[in-house]
Amino acid sequence: MSEVSTESAGQPVAEGRLAGRVAIVTGGARGIGKAIVERLVADGARVAFTCNSSPEAAEVLAGELGADRAMAVQCNVTSAEQINSLVEKVLTAWGKIHILVNNAGITKDTLVMRMSQQDFEDVLSTNLTGAFLMTKAVLRPMMSERWGRIINISSVVGLVGNPGQANYVASKAGLIGMTKSIALEVASRNILVNCIAPGFIQSDMTSKLNEQQQSQLTSLIPLKRIGQGADVAAMVSFLGSGDAAYITGQTFAVDGGMTML
Ligand code: NDP
Repeated sequence: MSEVSTESAGQPVAEGRLAGRVAIVTGGARGIGKAIVERLVADGARVAFTCNSSPEAAEVLAGELGADRAMAVQCNVTSAEQINSLVEKVLTAWGKIHILVNNAGITKDTLVMRMSQQDFEDVLSTNLTGAFLMTKAVLRPMMSERWGRIINISSVVGLVGNPGQANYVASKAGLIGMTKSIALEVASRNILVNCIAPGFIQSDMTSKLNEQQQSQLTSLIPLKRIGQGADVAAMVSFLGSGDAAYITGQTFAVDGGMTML
């Protein structure tokens, strides 16, 4: 018999579409990651989420969601050692890992003429190598379950480019390519790997833009509003659910129509 599950879209779910699932979300204490954690918990999953420099915010969120549903773990995604210890913690507590959301990301924007090699490598290291290390660490537990969902948070700029963000765009385009390769490697194990490319979403990352830049950007969005973390979280919830059982290796823009390729 084939190892591939016969799960298909439209199956009825009890207690939320993600009931019984265990998820890890990187960078879950604030911004888009926080909205993803809240949505997955609301959908019935147990969620371990990482923080790096925001342990206080992470503890507050974990406290609000309850210890039976959420766990905050300090983990820098550039460290394989810290990632392995995170995965061990989750397996010890909950025994399984079904869903990984690679959300942690940073920017260090400037024109290439002025960009230091360090700033280039720092962004690649967090945004791309971090997702690689996390993925590598969860594949074995997902294979044991014969069920897995890996959801990488890329960006629309990874599709279309952006001046002043060569490092960030390289990391986000890299995520899209890596998603396809890993999707091909693990499809036979019923592990589905997809990417979400958010557009302009309200968070600490985008609050660095001044009011004029924000309104200029908003005018370019057909839906005429800045996106919310919840808009991205809704797509994560779908891709993590049984309804997405026949989708892998894809990239979905959640951008109010800003990019139409
Ligand atoms: P924020 O700057 O608000 O949050 C970034 C998150 O990444 C924080 O939770 C932070 O954790 C975590 N993080 C950063 N570095 C590390 C690290 N080395 N190890 C572990 N965690 C780390 O960003 P957003 O919420 O806006 O962005 C979330 C994701 O969405 C990113 O990948 C970003 O590139 C992507 N995105 C965002 C868009 C937007 O418009 N906002 C558009 C397109 C994509 P901590 O605070 O604990 O350090």
